[in-house]
Amino acid sequence: MNFSPKEERARFGKGEIMRPATPKPASPLSSCLETLKKSWSKQKGIAGLWQDWPKIAGAQLAPHCQPLNLYKGILFVGASHPYWRQALQYNRPHLLANLRTAGHDIREIRIQQHHPGPTQISDSEELIWARHPSRIDVHGITPCPICKSPAPTGEVSLWGKCSFCRRQEIQKKTSLSDHSN
Ligand SMILES: [Zn+2]
Repeated sequence: MNFSPKEERARFGKGEIMRPATPKPASPLSSCLETLKKSWSKQKGIAGLWQDWPKIAGAQLAPHCQPLNLYKGILFVGASHPYWRQALQYNRPHLLANLRTAGHDIREIRIQQHHPGPTQISDSEELIWARHPSRIDVHGITPCPICKSPAPTGEVSLWGKCSFCRRQEIQKKTSLSDHSN
């Protein structure tokens, strides 16, 4: 499936191949960008993490946990409910990889119990957007290991299956316990 952004497709139609080739940079552009991103994220610190969090943690996790503190490369993440603490624990290697890809220099994630106060920004535009179903364009789509149909990566990484399969599993468990009664 092709999920290339609209801008890219538009540019393709304008015949930009007619332009003279840009001279090659002294060092690979990707490594320049990496360095730039890293220095930027160091300046950003915890504020930058807050900003990137919905993208790093994914649409499922992001609204239920938050970066609390960043100290010597150790990121403290808080979640109030045991279920989300467990989900965080389970997704820790994935989170760490996402953090590094986003240019955050994190070497360890520690998960903490955290009860956000009433002034918590849980309903900020950012988090509403993080829950939005169209975020699959950002987080990507993974085939569900059970039904093999495309599912949001956030769902598959959280439950190991798509939300449809998860619902079916719950229904099956419920009907089984009904029969045994
Ligand atoms: Zn499925």
